[in-house]
Amino acid sequence: MINVAIDGPVGAGKSTIARECAKRIGFIYVDTGALYRTVGLFCKRNDIEISTDNAENIEKAITEGLKLEIRLENGTQLVFMNGENVSSEIRLPEMSMAASAVSAIPCVRRFLLETQRKVARENNVIMDGRDIGTVILPDAEVKIFLTAKPEIRAKRRYDELVAKGLDVKFEDVLSDLNTRDYNDSHRAEAPLKQADDAILLDTSEYDFEQSVEAVIRLIEKRQ
Ligand code: C5P
Repeated sequence: MINVAIDGPVGAGKSTIARECAKRIGFIYVDTGALYRTVGLFCKRNDIEISTDNAENIEKAITEGLKLEIRLENGTQLVFMNGENVSSEIRLPEMSMAASAVSAIPCVRRFLLETQRKVARENNVIMDGRDIGTVILPDAEVKIFLTAKPEIRAKRRYDELVAKGLDVKFEDVLSDLNTRDYNDSHRAEAPLKQADDAILLDTSEYDFEQSVEAVIRLIEKRQ
């Protein structure tokens, strides 16, 4: 199996670029942020406080009460929480912060590790996240660290949310993005960082098509 790991900060375009590349080269696209979002949703629905101080209760609740499944439908990833398709609900902006908070809790990362490795063992994947090249798939054939300037990433995220009909302010999107990036790169467990053998790709000056082509070129070169 060929595994492509794409990591990077919020709004670097990882998911849209990875999804399109996967479609063009016939790989499965795996969005690992969706898994953290689902754990965040589970905690919210069950009134479980999301903090490292509450890690023991969180671990007990997820190991005993959360069945999380990735299902692939026509190349699209759906996420099921105890049998319920939560793929749309987890995309709401308030779920981003919940995901960011749960992602710093070591037992949550451990809980999600095998789900991610299993799908990569069984399929040619392009998997995106924060620690795919460093922790989840350290032997991935291709590792890319995708980034862009913060204002550009915030503008892309803002446009995406507005296109979905959500009423958001640019300043809020930018500050949310900076907070999440700070949390992701400063947490003790599996922080966001470029793997030593990852290729840095800055898409600040690229449009979508140029970004997709650049990623595909890197994959073809390394295969
Ligand atoms: O990528 P997305 O914005 O959906 O991820 C939501 C949150 O989940 C991120 O802000 C990050 O804190 C966390 N995450 C992570 N490791 C991953 C993917 C996402 O910590 N592999």
